[in-house]
Amino acid sequence: MPALAAARRRGVAAKKAAKPAKATQPAKAAAKSSDPATLQSRLAKLGLRRDFDLVLHLPLRYEDETRLATIADASSAQSAEPVQVQGRVVRTEVMYRPRRQLVSRIDDGSGVLVLRFFNFYGSQAAALAEGATVRAFGEVKSGFFGGEMIHPRFRVLRGEEPLPEALTPVYPAGAGLSQALLRKLIGRALEEQPLGEVLPEAVLAPLGMPSFRDAVLALHHPRPLGAGSTHSKSAGRREAEALRSRSHPAWRRMKFDELLAQQLSMRIHYRERRARSAPPLADAGTLTRQLIAKLPFTLTRAQARAWSEIAHDLAAPHPMHRLLQGDVGSGKTVVAALAALRAVENGWQAAVMAPTEILAEQHYRKFHEWLTPLGVKVAWLTGSQSTAERKRMLAEVEAGDTPVVVGTHALFQDKVRFSALALAIVDEQHRFGVAQRLALRKKGRNSGDTPAEPHQLMMSATPIPRTLSMSVYADLDVSVIDELPPGRKPVTTKLVADTRRLEVVRRIREACRAGRQAYWVCPLIEESETLDLQTALDTHAALTAEFPELRVGLAHGRLAPAEKAQVMQDFVAGNTHLLVATTVIEVGVDVPNASMMVIEHAERFGLAQLHQLRGRVGRGTAESACILLFQNPLSGNARARLKTIFESQDGFAIAEADLRLRGPGEYLGSRQSGAPLLRFADLVEDASLVATARETAEMLLDRHPDAARRHLERWLGGRSEFMKA
Ligand code: ADP
Ligand code: MG
Repeated sequence: MPALAAARRRGVAAKKAAKPAKATQPAKAAAKSSDPATLQSRLAKLGLRRDFDLVLHLPLRYEDETRLATIADASSAQSAEPVQVQGRVVRTEVMYRPRRQLVSRIDDGSGVLVLRFFNFYGSQAAALAEGATVRAFGEVKSGFFGGEMIHPRFRVLRGEEPLPEALTPVYPAGAGLSQALLRKLIGRALEEQPLGEVLPEAVLAPLGMPSFRDAVLALHHPRPLGAGSTHSKSAGRREAEALRSRSHPAWRRMKFDELLAQQLSMRIHYRERRARSAPPLADAGTLTRQLIAKLPFTLTRAQARAWSEIAHDLAAPHPMHRLLQGDVGSGKTVVAALAALRAVENGWQAAVMAPTEILAEQHYRKFHEWLTPLGVKVAWLTGSQSTAERKRMLAEVEAGDTPVVVGTHALFQDKVRFSALALAIVDEQHRFGVAQRLALRKKGRNSGDTPAEPHQLMMSATPIPRTLSMSVYADLDVSVIDELPPGRKPVTTKLVADTRRLEVVRRIREACRAGRQAYWVCPLIEESETLDLQTALDTHAALTAEFPELRVGLAHGRLAPAEKAQVMQDFVAGNTHLLVATTVIEVGVDVPNASMMVIEHAERFGLAQLHQLRGRVGRGTAESACILLFQNPLSGNARARLKTIFESQDGFAIAEADLRLRGPGEYLGSRQSGAPLLRFADLVEDASLVATARETAEMLLDRHPDAARRHLERWLGGRSEFMKA
């Protein structure tokens, strides 16, 4: 078994490579982890619960201790790359000026190098005795007297000691877990754990990837190609670079396996849902058709497509979990209204949920406007209602007298009981948690012979790139509205330094005098709601003084729901001209007459947020503008954000840029908590692997369910971090 033998050899090499670190580390860092329980809990903090997890604990990077540089070369190279040198100690002394330090000089015949330590033990000073042969690893800086290493890792050699054959892995570590200890534990796991394939050869062969065993061994103990005589130095460098950038075939294999585990677990959920039951909602040809006929516009092609996908799902006797993605203003609400009517025309109820009071009220108004003329009652449920009103409404819903209910989080509460809920529509779904989605499931009708779960239609105004959506939303079906209703004029975006604030004030005045309305969005102050509020109050006072002839409203997160609703109502009705607001207006507010927006300190906002905010204007027929006031100096990232928002109005393009600037973790926000954690695969870099993993997952579940199970076991063990509602 050559591979296994190689594994052993590499394991041995790794142990040797590990030694220098141990020999020279101060005693406190060399963890005393003799207590197995302590060790176990420390490993668990790194997500290492089973022995096999050690196999999957892959290096962050490598150090090359397989070769020696001459001191002369190392001193003249001037590179930040750490190198290894070896020489004889010519002199070691403890100096006290300018501060206490240990200085040792070593000579390898090509030159002399200074090893300098500001923290050291007496034993280290003693080990560096004159005449000792020392191997040191570190970055060479040019010091006052030539090349020097500060705090290098070193070891004193006893006789002939061959160089390690493999690169030295550097692992993600944690408190009380030294690299040396991790290397030892991982080396042992690599010898003891089964590393054979769990996936069928027929599945793997067309992918052209290394075997699991080869990939794992290559990543833990890569042998530098350049070292052998048959390979050129540049091939070695390419190999090292591929390892570093994680584009090496061995990395691709591990990333693929990881993405496959993610797809498998989410697709299993997807399939399980298909086995549960929900009320089938057929095309009754009544209310939905009537609404389409009565609308003052025709659906865009994208809206019609999304609606037909939804209608198709609703007709099935299994719960739909479909995400409707569409840029701000793309017209998701009418599609949601059609879905609600599909439930009603089949004699069922629908619930519509929005994350904020303002948004919920807006939905309520739209639904009311569209549904009431069709004879469909719409109820409204929020935290700000009077108790009596609420009671009456709850009773109506429970009795089934009201077929459509619109509201906020309040709808999730136990007190809210439906007589026949067939569809739950959740706007801005990423603002709701898994628990809330679960609560919804339970609101279906469970009496009688049909235990049924409501269908779910989730909506998001944050379009996300396809590969990302294929990964995080692998448990859902996704519809995309990728077209805006006709006649929208693009919003002119202007970047203005805040030194030119007065010009901006003048433009706002002109627009409002011409009968237009405007938003003034206050700067976002991180981690301080109090300061946020103060800024909003100050800005409101300043602008009120600035525009004595205009009525200036103020909306912020601390207003009581009823107050906030009133402020919005005033703005919608045109009673206020200018609305000073914090980001409470971020989602969904629709005031077509508002054609100007000023965002102060735009450099502090995220891309998605800026795009959402800007989407509040340009909803009517007037020319619209969004003025981004920024304060110099700008960080590189802030500059990139402002450039993107200035250049693009396309939500998908902005989402792609956002993803590149922030990385998937932050980008996904709250969904991340319930979503699979990817350790190795990068959804931007490895986009092409996501589609392959998806196809492979489907194929395995269809044809090789045993292999699918073994793969999940290998990658996830008993853990369920990939699982969700
Ligand atoms: P969002 O997708 O951001 O929720 P809305 O549903 O609020 O967008 O729609 C934005 C505006 O466009 C609304 O005033 C809506 O009535 C209007 N609208 C929706 N669909 C169309 C269409 N096909 N043609 C013209 N206007 C439309
Ligand atoms: Mg909306």
